[in-house]
Amino acid sequence: MMQNFIYIIADAKTREAYVVDICWDVPGVLKCIEQLKLKLVGAIITHYHFDHTGGKPPPPYEKYPVTVDGIHTLTRKFKNLKVYAGPGDATTLKEVNGVAGEQIVETTDNQEIQLGDTTMKFIHTPGHTPGSQCILVNGCRLLSGDTVFIGGCGRLDFPDCNGTHMFETMQKLKRLPDEIVVYPGHKYGGTFSTIAYEKQYGAIRPLDRLTWTQTYNPAPPPESQ
Ligand SMILES: [Zn+2]
Repeated sequence: MMQNFIYIIADAKTREAYVVDICWDVPGVLKCIEQLKLKLVGAIITHYHFDHTGGKPPPPYEKYPVTVDGIHTLTRKFKNLKVYAGPGDATTLKEVNGVAGEQIVETTDNQEIQLGDTTMKFIHTPGHTPGSQCILVNGCRLLSGDTVFIGGCGRLDFPDCNGTHMFETMQKLKRLPDEIVVYPGHKYGGTFSTIAYEKQYGAIRPLDRLTWTQTYNPAPPPESQ
C-alpha cells in the first residue's frame, strides 16, 4: 500500500511555513497549518508525480476512477502563492497539474530560501523524474522525495526516469554529512533514516556504476513470445 508523506517546514520565530508535496487531503493539511498557528507562504514539490502533487494516476492505472486532490487546489485557493519546482518538472506541473505558470518558480541547484532562522536549500536530484529535488533544512534534515527511500531509491521504470542521472545523483548525495536525517516521500520501511545509514545499507552505498545499475535499475526481462 502506498503511503505518502507531506511535510511542513516552518520557522518557529516568524511562524512562516512552506508545505512540501501537498496532496490527497489539502483541506486537512491547511487545517493542520491553521491549528499550528502557522502562516503558509509557499509550496514546494519534490517532483511532479500525481501521488505528490495530485491529479490522475498514469497508465496503466488511469482506468481507476480517482482524481487526487493536490497542488492545483492549493494554487487556485491562494493565487499569489508560489510553487517551487525543479526545472525539469516545471512544464509538467503546468501542463499536467494545471498550475498557473506565473505561480511556478523554477529552483536552481543549491538555491537557498531564508525563512526567519530557518534555511531551506534545494538540491537537484534528477533520476526518478527530470526535475526531482531534495530540500535540505538547516543543513541537518533532508526531505528526499522519491529520490532516497530507506534502504533504496525511487523507481526507475517510468518513461521519463533516467538511471544514469540517478546514479550521478547518488554520488552527489553520498557527499552529504553522515548525521543528516533523511525524510523520504513514502512510508517504505519506516519514517526516517540518516545519510550514514543509507551510505551503509542504501542506494548511496559505495557501489561501482555497473553493480549499482544491476541492483537498482536492472534491464526489464525480455518479452516472452
Ligand atoms: Zn514519484
